[in-house]
Amino acid sequence: MELAKRVQSLTPSSTLAITAKAKALKAEGHDVIGLGAGEPDFNTPENILEAAKRAMDEGLTKYTPSGGVPELKNAITAKMKRDQGLTYSNEQVIVTTGAKHALFTLFQVLLNKGDEVIVPAPYWVSYPEQIKLAEGNPVVVPASEENNFKITPGDLKQAITSKTKAVIINSPSNPTGMMYSREELQAIGEVCLENDLLIISDEIYEKLIYSEEDHVSMAQLSDELYANTMIINGVSKSHSMTGWRIGYALGNKEIIKAMTNMASHSTSNPTSIAQYAALAAYTSSEEQVFQMREAFKERLNALYGWLTEIPGVKCVKPSGAFYLFPNVKEASEQCGFKNVTAWVEALLDEEKVALVPGAGFGAPDNVRLSYATSLDQLEEAAKRIHTFVNKHQ
Ligand code: PLP
Repeated sequence: MELAKRVQSLTPSSTLAITAKAKALKAEGHDVIGLGAGEPDFNTPENILEAAKRAMDEGLTKYTPSGGVPELKNAITAKMKRDQGLTYSNEQVIVTTGAKHALFTLFQVLLNKGDEVIVPAPYWVSYPEQIKLAEGNPVVVPASEENNFKITPGDLKQAITSKTKAVIINSPSNPTGMMYSREELQAIGEVCLENDLLIISDEIYEKLIYSEEDHVSMAQLSDELYANTMIINGVSKSHSMTGWRIGYALGNKEIIKAMTNMASHSTSNPTSIAQYAALAAYTSSEEQVFQMREAFKERLNALYGWLTEIPGVKCVKPSGAFYLFPNVKEASEQCGFKNVTAWVEALLDEEKVALVPGAGFGAPDNVRLSYATSLDQLEEAAKRIHTFVNKHQ
């Protein structure tokens, strides 16, 4: 049977092909090091597991309100007050099955056919596909490596048309790990206000910052920007809870109401038990979040050092998330490969290290390495990449 056009135009995930190949090599008994992971390698903290078990024992296993249980909404609004000094009412919150579905639902309620959403590149792979699924047009705006992969107000202005409805800001970013400063956000925010654009602020890596800079949300910068910003966040990355599928959106009441309506006809609600687990995450000490952050920081510093010793590998040091996004164009050219994707494939074949080619993120000269794995594995991976480059030069 012929499938709907909307799925025919979906681009398969760029991580998929390389992950499948890495798995096949592993199954054949090869010692493969996978640096493709988009999730923390730590266990979910014990107190969160206990809260989920308690929820099960207490029979909290039924449908919940579509937008999430009030206790969790309260905990999310309290977190926003505590962390960012922002005030939200429960009507301004929806709890979703992961931040990914918050974004999916947001695009569904926001976009009409042909509406444009500005997506700065390098971008997280799901943004353009989700926009297309809502019949919108993703308008990719390349951010230069010289500007640390961040768009400027000028880049943004050039991309705005009468059809532009929103712009996505993901800080810290997947795949680059870069963060916008307060001043940079202020300048971009002004352009958004002048052009009446909604700002979609994906803050999922907010707790994973390794520099001295504070996380700043567009919504904190002025009352106007607060009113024009939809914040997306969740517990997947901060509390190592990727499989629990709890995310949320915060902002304009009417938008949240429409999203909740949509959820009532699609997911019904995020898993009840997972909501109580997330409640524990937001109402207990953040000690374990900080411990995970410290471990990531140590790995970042080590891996950054090893990588930048490799000839032809150029890397801007990121401030957050758990990815490095080096430019390996020179290395791949010096090694005689036709492009970076071919270089990545050969690296997997010969040295059994799996990276993600940057093409899928809108940056074909780069590769993404995740440091959500042990220091030993990272050191071994860096050695193998070095060996591979030396061998081919
Ligand atoms: N936004 C970005 C930038 C991400 O990297 C991810 C996960 O990889 C998500 C959103 C989705 O997170 P969740 O697991 O909450 O759906």
